[in-house]
Amino acid sequence: SLILAIESSCDETSVAVVKNGDIILSNIIATQINSHQRFGGVVPEVASRHHIEQITICIDQSLKQADVDKKDLDAVAVTYGPGLVGALLVGVSAAKAFAYANNLPLIPVNHMIGHIYAARFVKPIVFPSLALLVSGGHTELVYMPSENEFKIIGETRDDAAGEAYDKVGRVMGLKYPAGKAIDELAHEGQDTFHFPRAMEHEDNFDFSFSGLKSAFINTVHHADQINEELSKADLAASFQQSVVDVIVDKTVRACEQLDIKQLILAGGVAANRGLRDALDAKISEKLDDLDFVKAPLKLCGDNGAMIGAAGEMLMRHDQFADMTLNADPSLEFDWEPEAVK
Ligand code: ATP
Ligand code: MG
Ligand code: FE
Repeated sequence: SLILAIESSCDETSVAVVKNGDIILSNIIATQINSHQRFGGVVPEVASRHHIEQITICIDQSLKQADVDKKDLDAVAVTYGPGLVGALLVGVSAAKAFAYANNLPLIPVNHMIGHIYAARFVKPIVFPSLALLVSGGHTELVYMPSENEFKIIGETRDDAAGEAYDKVGRVMGLKYPAGKAIDELAHEGQDTFHFPRAMEHEDNFDFSFSGLKSAFINTVHHADQINEELSKADLAASFQQSVVDVIVDKTVRACEQLDIKQLILAGGVAANRGLRDALDAKISEKLDDLDFVKAPLKLCGDNGAMIGAAGEMLMRHDQFADMTLNADPSLEFDWEPEAVK
């Protein structure tokens, strides 16, 4: 099958052509980061305007680069939530118009299922599977007993991991989004500050990063007041070690308690080197039989290809939408299970 996939939930306009769910023929990504940097975060109005300017260009480029004719497509997949409502609406409207004009079925995709399916470009997803989703707006463990069934077994009670990275980055004077820069700094420093590791030993799979963020900010402000110069590399290393320790601990425990065949790491923060390496090490030490799949580095952030991979799976489950499809900014995984185990 050939799917044209559209993503516009936040600050990337992206359109891909994906073949058979796991071959990328094109994956055009127009990022708006430069326009948001001076505000220290994504400005919704600015995001919508950029998507409007970029969407048609991205669709044309994507088809051209894939060397695919409109009439050879089998479906159009689009992110309809969660995300910024104005941003989502641009993608949804464009997808509806394209599907209508070319008489193609429309597949509505949950952005978070998209993140998980970035792993599909590495290898097939085998069930039962567990996904560790770490991104700008989410930090959760998602249990998948079979294809197209999703159950959140743990999630953050306050900030998402990526959000925490971006907030402490701002305090350190780093540009938005700060995740990658902190990751790089962390590799030059040591965990000298020993920030708190919230909920690490609690008997659940939930996370909390706001206490860590506060501890970090207090440390920096206190040093400012007494004119003490702190090592940025050590601050970054300490922050990252705290985030990674909690995430790795909880994820490995979830893997041990659930009867799963595979663990998937996905979402923007899945690009984090510290997290990838620590999970690799812990899993080969404790759960050597488990199939650990990391989303490809280039597909951790928002992109159309992952939406195409998820769209192919949803298409096989006959999950189509009609022209009444609307954006759903607070879309959730909707599977209501009896019990996980
Ligand atoms: P969501 O997917 O939850 O709707 P989003 O789409 O805005 O949110 P993503 O694009 O998936 O989020 O991820 C962006 C986040 O990933 C940012 O917070 C960014 O700082 C973070 N990030 C990117 N690279 C790294 C890295 N190497 N280490 C840590 N964080 C990173
Ligand atoms: Mg983004
Ligand atoms: Fe995302």
